Amino acid sequence: MKTTLTAIKGTKDILPSEARLWQKAEAVCREIFEAYGYREIRTPIIEPTELFVKGTGETTDIVTKEMYTFKDKGGRSITLRPEYTPSVVRAIIEHRLYLQPSLLRFYYFGPMFRHDRPQKGRYRQFHQVDIEVFGESDPAVDAEILEMADYLLDRLQIKDKELLINSVGCPICRPRYLTFLRQEAEKLKSCLCLDCQRRVELNPLRLFDCKEPVCQETNQALPKIMDHLCSDCQTHFDDLRRWLDFYGLSYRLEPRLVRGLDYYTRTTFEIISPGLGAQKALLGGGRYDHLMKLYGGPDICGIGFAMGLERVLTLAKIIPDEEKSIYLAYLGEKSKERCLRLCRDLRRQGFSSFLEYKDRGLKEQLGRANKLGVNWTIILGEDELAKGVGQIKEMASGAQKAVPLEQIIAILKILKRGEKNWPK
Ligand code: AMP
Repeated sequence: MKTTLTAIKGTKDILPSEARLWQKAEAVCREIFEAYGYREIRTPIIEPTELFVKGTGETTDIVTKEMYTFKDKGGRSITLRPEYTPSVVRAIIEHRLYLQPSLLRFYYFGPMFRHDRPQKGRYRQFHQVDIEVFGESDPAVDAEILEMADYLLDRLQIKDKELLINSVGCPICRPRYLTFLRQEAEKLKSCLCLDCQRRVELNPLRLFDCKEPVCQETNQALPKIMDHLCSDCQTHFDDLRRWLDFYGLSYRLEPRLVRGLDYYTRTTFEIISPGLGAQKALLGGGRYDHLMKLYGGPDICGIGFAMGLERVLTLAKIIPDEEKSIYLAYLGEKSKERCLRLCRDLRRQGFSSFLEYKDRGLKEQLGRANKLGVNWTIILGEDELAKGVGQIKEMASGAQKAVPLEQIIAILKILKRGEKNWPK
């Protein structure tokens, strides 16, 4: 039996009709990030598996269940990146970027891979746009990136959004809290799923990541880390809230927001949108003050967020920039040659231009230009060629005018600017 090949479950094609929207969203992100002092960084999709085991955390869901890991031909364990922060930190250490005088602010776009159960808004290959700031411990920076995220979502015309914040403490207060959490969770262990029963012993903070309704219900009774912060973490959190007020950003405290990764310290946050249904997180992130050191680099703190482009694009009410295109219709070999040259010159002036390579007759070509929805058609039949002119036809109005061939590009440039009257 003949089988048709299709995209792998949990992955999807971004077709040209959607790609324009992606480009527009990416352009908005790029513009804003650059204005805030971020610079683009690109790292490989494949990384050594231990990068994520060490940073993301051995007992996290991402590492235990969701990574695409394989042995390469040299027997090395390779993983398709499930998140981006570890790669950026690795690159900074590897290239000693911290020795350069430039700001340590980075952004990137790219696919991530997680083998989770696919559903609406949750894919196995999805795309993130992420930002990271290094070397700034002041909570004003935490607030600034949230202000930037809020502005970014506004620019993408996403109004329906809510900011959730929490603090997950630091290596001073968290161990004390975890001992207490473990004790309390032991008492409720029988109500938890099998995974969570293991988490109680291995990594009790991860209890809050569980998606099982019964565990989420039980977790309500567990102690909140927010109530167990040391004085430095408490001050940091209070200052963050003060700066959020300063920017006029409203937020909700969410004591169970621990964000699935082991390396977070202090601030964690998410921006959610109820419009997304079950998978409602648009973006999420937090502070990771000890990750660089954990990877053997200098003791430089960091903070960042990742935003899912698929989810953002289901809500973004942006309109892609209008494309202006030109179709060249010709008759006969000489006219074809002239059109090919004109087409090349138009393209070099930034006009999206095209023609058929097989001479199909003018009527058929005009019909095709109509169907393609181009803005202008240039008609160059034998008569026109003999007179050294081309007809420019404006498809929307049907207006048509013969103009000298050497003036066509200049006239189209004027028309492209949206001027109503045809140049004399
Ligand atoms: P995370 O790295 O899990 O904090 O995710 C950051 C953002 O990436 C989320 O808020 C989502 O917008 C997006 N995201 C995470 N996982 C997926 C997925 N499996 N499919 C689509 N988007 C995702």
